[in-house]
Amino acid sequence: MRVLVLNCGSSSLKFQLIETSREQIAQNNDRVLAHGAVERVGSDDAKFTYQMAGREKEEKQQAVKDQKQAIQLAFDHLTAPGGALSHPQDVEAVGHRIVHGGEAFHESVIIDDRVLKDIEKLSDLAPLHNPENLKGYYASRELLPDAKQVAVFDTSFHQTMPPRAYLYGLPYEFYERDHIRKYGFHGTSHRYVSWRFAMLHQKKRADYKLITCHLGNGCSVCAIDHGKSIDTSMGFTPMDGLLMGTRPGEIDPGAVLYLAQRDPDGAQGMEKLLNHKAGLAGLTNSTGDMRDIQKRSAEGDQRARDAVDVFCYRVIQFIGSYATVLNGADAILFTGGIGENSSEIRAQVCQGLTWLGVELDAAANDQARGKDARITTEASKTPVWVIPTDEELLIARDTFRCIEGIPHP
Ligand code: ADP
Repeated sequence: MRVLVLNCGSSSLKFQLIETSREQIAQNNDRVLAHGAVERVGSDDAKFTYQMAGREKEEKQQAVKDQKQAIQLAFDHLTAPGGALSHPQDVEAVGHRIVHGGEAFHESVIIDDRVLKDIEKLSDLAPLHNPENLKGYYASRELLPDAKQVAVFDTSFHQTMPPRAYLYGLPYEFYERDHIRKYGFHGTSHRYVSWRFAMLHQKKRADYKLITCHLGNGCSVCAIDHGKSIDTSMGFTPMDGLLMGTRPGEIDPGAVLYLAQRDPDGAQGMEKLLNHKAGLAGLTNSTGDMRDIQKRSAEGDQRARDAVDVFCYRVIQFIGSYATVLNGADAILFTGGIGENSSEIRAQVCQGLTWLGVELDAAANDQARGKDARITTEASKTPVWVIPTDEELLIARDTFRCIEGIPHP
């Protein structure tokens, strides 16, 4: 089955055309036929990139007024003569990344009218994300009326968390009436890497207790007990938990109140601060890009050093907490742009985990960059692995499984 995977953000579109089937999933050889992105959607100088398997990457700047035009641009390239598809109808299904599935969705689903209503209702909880994700759905439904559409949620993997992990210490009516609770995000990534780790060992996810660390621009840690998420560091929104590129992670709500009372823009000002100006960017007065911060730290910039220390300290804290919650972990996995590529950050985190019997293999750690690799010695009591994430692949597989009625593993 050829599945188009769409990830629509507020000003970007990422897409991949993936060929998958029961056999390809079993043999882990699903094929990416083409992939691309549109950045700065809504502007006169949007950047379009596109690459077909085995061909040169194409790049151009042009006006792209909205998500529909961005998806049309992707189709035009996918169906160009000699392109990845001879006709748009060759796309049998579209898999959409939807950020918030609330308590309504425990797994990926085919989008019908009822599902659509529920996702729209959930826009209240994710006003920055769900409406954007849905723009991709409406556009692709119009452009591909015959294709089935499937929603894959960032939150659904964490719906197995017990109340002791997801309830906040607020009057209960705030949970019942306003749905204020921990939801957790990055579920597709945590689910993918835990599956991949088990697969590399010819076992099932249900055979392990794992701590997965997704460290990218957004960062979260997840405690996975025999295949089920039982706690995760992001909360009601993706702002909580670890220090991130531009988000603060854990912060005393009293500090937020204090600032909100003094901010002339009130809640709006706080939203900007907490989503875009905090985290690594806030601490270093920079972009929040870890590579830049590490470079500045190596050059002796003390604020950059402190920021890296705060970042690693939080990761160590959460891993320690989840090792306790799980009553011991069989392995720790790193993924995401930082987790997959930065041997320095991994080494600094592992230094704080010797009590778990973590013994880093420095050479293996230095060589592990964007590929599946164990980075601890054979003797290490808790093995630590790098497993590159592939959320698009999991979205394509979920889409295929939903349509074929195959249970999700
Ligand atoms: P997103 O969460 O937006 O998908 P990524 O997972 O691509 O982002 O992660 C982006 C982060 O990964 C950035 O902070 C970037 O600096 C960092 N990163 C990428 N490569 C490296 C590297 N070699 N060393 C350190 N950090 C890296």
